Amino acid sequence: MTRRSVEVREFLMRLEWAAAKLERDVAFMEVCGTHTVNAFRCGLHSLMPPNVTLLSGPGCPVCVTAQGDVDQMIHLAGRPGVTLCTYGDMLRVTGSHSSLELERTRGADIRVIYSAMDAVKLAADEPRREVVLAAVGFETTAPATAIAVLEAHRRGLKNFSALVTHKLVLPAMRALLDGVPVKLDGFLCPGHVSVIIGAEVYRPIVEKYGKPCVIVGFEDLQLAAGLCRLVELALDGTPRLENLYPQAVSPRGNARALEVLERVFEPVEARWRGLAAIPASGLGLRAKWSQYDAARKFGLEAVDAPEPPGCRCGEVITGQCTPHDCTLFGTACTPVRPIGPCMVSSEGTCQAWFKYKRARTAKHEYVKT
Ligand code: SF4
Repeated sequence: MTRRSVEVREFLMRLEWAAAKLERDVAFMEVCGTHTVNAFRCGLHSLMPPNVTLLSGPGCPVCVTAQGDVDQMIHLAGRPGVTLCTYGDMLRVTGSHSSLELERTRGADIRVIYSAMDAVKLAADEPRREVVLAAVGFETTAPATAIAVLEAHRRGLKNFSALVTHKLVLPAMRALLDGVPVKLDGFLCPGHVSVIIGAEVYRPIVEKYGKPCVIVGFEDLQLAAGLCRLVELALDGTPRLENLYPQAVSPRGNARALEVLERVFEPVEARWRGLAAIPASGLGLRAKWSQYDAARKFGLEAVDAPEPPGCRCGEVITGQCTPHDCTLFGTACTPVRPIGPCMVSSEGTCQAWFKYKRARTAKHEYVKT
């Protein structure tokens, strides 16, 4: 047995001891796609005592993107002269009538990019095309979009714009606590996002809602340590903010990234899958940069669109049901033929369940209020 597995075991034993003392059911939620996948990959759920549940929340960027926003991307990709640049996972997400993947087979110019700057380079290389960056993701990817906008401006590019659907983690956590009928006893806070926004932003969740927040990295040891602390804090009855990832997450975050976000974006209402529209939960380009706003440039109206028939992604990403509760799971909807974004995305809860947890167990029925 390696030293690392000994340490994981020690945390799990501490967790089990605290859970036994608790004498009540507790449910914690992670809000990070990488946490979702890694927790399933290392079998953490199956190692939890019967009264401890780890829920997957709205942490996967592809999964939280509203159906109406997916439709806008597909619509834009179909416009003559437009080249849509997207990160890979968005390609297969089904909109109301099509997907970017399908539109590409029909001749739409859709490019998969690995960084926002790829779209800027493309706009410079192809001045006759209107290059649109589908800017999806949380505070981790938003700084790259901001830098791309600044770079397009520096180069004087008139044919670059961004369809911005960036989202903020904290308003989603508040919305979960305020309006979703799921009992939550604390959060395992995301590693990547917290590198940007810092640890202190979670303090209102602790102080106003009385929910402990523990920031962790991505490895089995860090996840086990975070869950252990959440159970111990529940036992203590003293909600606290703890940063177990101090090597990457500082109290105030990454000042340079926050500065560029502030310079380019402002908080705007955003539409979320599963959480509807939340005020000030997204990022929109400031008026100074409006020439790079694809929605404005192409006259796009915000639209609401229903999820694919039968798909329960909205409930899955808010902890209201498990993928197994969806009748399409593993039958009509699989990673090969996904119906909802939670099965499309490599960070989606449904795909993680399909890969690592297909057998139904009674142990992880979700806890509703
Ligand atoms: Fe949506 Fe498929 Fe998950 Fe059902 S199994 S909620 S259809 S992604």
